[in-house]
Amino acid sequence: MGNRTSKESNCIFCNIAQKEQGSSKVLAENESLALFNDINPASKQHYLIIPKEHLVSPKTLDSEEHVELVNEMVKYGTDYLKEHGGDESDMKIGFHWPPFTTVNHLHLHVIYPVSEMSILFRIMYSDKIFVTPDYVINSIKAKM
Ligand SMILES: [Zn+2]
Ligand SMILES: [Zn+2]
Repeated sequence: MGNRTSKESNCIFCNIAQKEQGSSKVLAENESLALFNDINPASKQHYLIIPKEHLVSPKTLDSEEHVELVNEMVKYGTDYLKEHGGDESDMKIGFHWPPFTTVNHLHLHVIYPVSEMSILFRIMYSDKIFVTPDYVINSIKAKM
């Protein structure tokens, strides 16, 4: 991909995807995505899905390729949850919207079950701070 940087050596999520750091173990991956546990789980199951390419945040996405990426991340995370006993009816899925991002590497949260989330976590993953994949796709399309 020319001179585009695909990996930042001091990024904790790049390091997890490259398996260079022990803070989280990759549970599932394909050519372009990696899935691992959130270190501060908001419920019984809490996965993060990231692109292996270093993209900063949902706010920086701006192309058709990025729309496809978001859709792939959603499918990958939802399929993984369903294969591991979860179901979509009690799932929370989405992205923290800047400035509420804790790690500057694009990551999708999949949380289950929502019904067992504490008040504090409900606040951390509430609207305005935490947006749906559709919100992100609409924001990308608005730039195209
Ligand atoms: Zn990164
Ligand atoms: Zn986040």
